[in-house]
Amino acid sequence: MKTLGLLGGMSWESTSVYYQRLNRVTRERLGGQHSAPLLIWSADFAPIAAMQAAGDWDGAADVLVEAARRLEAAGADALLICANTMHKLATQVGAAVTVPVLHVADATAAAIRAAGVVRPLLIATRFTMEESFYRDRLRAGGVEAVVPEAGARDRLHSIIFDELVQGRFEPASRAEVVAIVHQAVAEGADIVILGCTEFGLLLSPDDLPIPVFDTTEIHVLAGLDFALAQ
Ligand code: GLU
Repeated sequence: MKTLGLLGGMSWESTSVYYQRLNRVTRERLGGQHSAPLLIWSADFAPIAAMQAAGDWDGAADVLVEAARRLEAAGADALLICANTMHKLATQVGAAVTVPVLHVADATAAAIRAAGVVRPLLIATRFTMEESFYRDRLRAGGVEAVVPEAGARDRLHSIIFDELVQGRFEPASRAEVVAIVHQAVAEGADIVILGCTEFGLLLSPDDLPIPVFDTTEIHVLAGLDFALAQ
């Protein structure tokens, strides 16, 4: 089995989900005492979040590129950036290493295409919902995602940065996200993409009126498909 390198800590709340799911699914697939060979680099998220908020993406790229090189030097066969937002820097990270960077939007687009979805709703940070790096990548994979209106995007962004990455999972915020999804369903959305790796900690598929595509889970499965391929 190949070794996956995780660029994590963005936030560690979701990196811990990656760690558990990568190991649990490896055990499901291989049985017995098997677990996933992993190398994890885990950031202090505060300075990274500050760079994101300030638009200092070059500074954030320097941090991720350095970490990616260290994971490659330590023996990673492929890298997973364990946050949708930081895929804004996936090209720079990929250019700095010789191993593949398994892109979360490629894996998500493939899963959605396979399900024959017409109108997916994307909920995520404002960066992921509003900038081109993510929706263009989905589009390149054959998926045209819609996003909520501006006020709802602001609330989602605040819930992620002021609560979820700080380990706060509030019922009132869950209800707000569910209401945003209901509004999108009324406007024709047929699935929801959880495009923030912490959303699965706030919401369960049972909370939502349409099928859920959780990017954390999809990314984990893509990583294991790579790691277990002959
Ligand atoms: N983990 C989040 C994501 O999937 C948000 C944190 C960040 O901005 O990196 O986008």
